[in-house]
Amino acid sequence: MREDIANLIKLQKVDLEILALDREKENCPESLLAVEKDLAAKKEEIMKLEKEIEELKYKKRSYEDELEQEYQRLRKSQNRLMEVKAQREYQALLKEIEEIKKANKLREEEIINIMDRLEKLNAEKEQLVEELHELETKVAEERAKYEAKREQLDEQRRVIWEERESIAKNIPTSLLKRYEFIKTRRNGLAVVGVINAICDGCHMNIPPQLYNELIRDDQVHECPICQRIIFYKKAYAELLGELPEGEGEKEDQAQASSPK
Ligand SMILES: [Zn+2]
Repeated sequence: MREDIANLIKLQKVDLEILALDREKENCPESLLAVEKDLAAKKEEIMKLEKEIEELKYKKRSYEDELEQEYQRLRKSQNRLMEVKAQREYQALLKEIEEIKKANKLREEEIINIMDRLEKLNAEKEQLVEELHELETKVAEERAKYEAKREQLDEQRRVIWEERESIAKNIPTSLLKRYEFIKTRRNGLAVVGVINAICDGCHMNIPPQLYNELIRDDQVHECPICQRIIFYKKAYAELLGELPEGEGEKEDQAQASSPK
């Protein structure tokens, strides 16, 4: 019986190590998440900039189209100027030509402004694309590190798994099944120590009668509250590699004599 409990304690220990490895493997490192976030932000920034550039290009094209039409209108008006005889009509045409020229000048200025702005935005974009490539490299590096880490964890897991198998094969099948069943229902923790009549799993009090039986250490017991397999911690202190703290000697003596 002592051997079964000792094996269960060992099994629980390696199972917790395996659980920790599995969790670590699923846990994407902060460093990778951070660069991935930066990369996404940079892409977003570039997209916004590209949209602004496209809008400006469209605006520029429409000014150019307008200008083209207005140049034609100007040429027609200038040609008509040669044919017109009446003074009033001549004056009106001159005025119209002046107005077209004035409006075209404004359009030309606007186009120049847009071109300046486009030049600046394109330079900005070039810079951002360069930064994007740097981030892509960083992400690839961090991913590779993470992958290497995962492989290393897999290797560690294989080693621990072998250890687990060698422990499990010494545990009676029905007890092992009971352990597995509790483990799946209790978040990976199926075997817990009890000291001072307190269950390490649920931190509740074990009834005195059960505690006395537990101290005798001649049978596998379960906590009546959390249903985990329990053992008297003091009896397995050596195996646990720790001396349980805060054991009330008086309480022990009052209940039963410790096997130690
Ligand atoms: Zn409990």
